[in-house]
Amino acid sequence: MRKLVVVFVLREAIYSFAALVAMAVLVGLLAAETLVKVLGPATSPLTGKVIVIDPGHGGIDPGAHDGQGIKEKDIVLAIASELRVLLGRAKAIPIQTRLGDWDLSDIYPDERTRHRQDLMARVHIAHRSQADAFVSIHVNKSSSTSASGPVTFYNPNQPESKRLAAALQRRLRELQPETAGWIMPGDFYILRESKVPTAIVEVGFISNPEEKKLLLTGEYRQKLAQAIFEGLCDFFKGSPLPPSPGRASPHQVPMKSWVNIFP
Ligand SMILES: [Zn+2]
Repeated sequence: MRKLVVVFVLREAIYSFAALVAMAVLVGLLAAETLVKVLGPATSPLTGKVIVIDPGHGGIDPGAHDGQGIKEKDIVLAIASELRVLLGRAKAIPIQTRLGDWDLSDIYPDERTRHRQDLMARVHIAHRSQADAFVSIHVNKSSSTSASGPVTFYNPNQPESKRLAAALQRRLRELQPETAGWIMPGDFYILRESKVPTAIVEVGFISNPEEKKLLLTGEYRQKLAQAIFEGLCDFFKGSPLPPSPGRASPHQVPMKSWVNIFP
């Protein structure tokens, strides 16, 4: 009889313990799910990736402007700051070349012009941080008010630059499938001098009245930041190098004729 009682008590204890463990596991899973919702996934393609975000221009250099107070430097700073938040949530290590309205020409002063020093400093930041990707954000301007849509430039001598530009432009195109251009080889200081995968994103045309309106809304800036963010995810997941267009430089043909490199 005594033996039976002991067995019964033991069995009850084991059941209770098992129930407790099950409860603890359930609570743990629920807590983990909530944490993932709040803090983002434990790992993402961007985890630990050093990404330099470069809002172009700043300070005395407004970049493209409409002559009525709307300046490229302010638009790109807002988009870059949104992107920095998204990258931080995804466990990347975002480094923003400027956080306010200034230029970087006094970081590495030498004999050269202010503009050249400013660009050198941005490339230095990418090199010294051993960035995994370097994205310079700009706003476009054209003599034609009809030109519109995002365009991304790459260094034609660096396959990783081209792969990055393609990944970014593919996502940016989703915002304006009818008008956005494709990637273009670019001969700009930042692209020429940077030793890390680099792309210059022209998010849209300030010279196009409709697109200017869009660029002034927080909602569209957020969409642009999200598109660049998703493009970076794709790049680090191993998005493919696009095939060469196989015809004359897009510089020589009208924008509407840019080669579709994503058939
Ligand atoms: Zn610019």
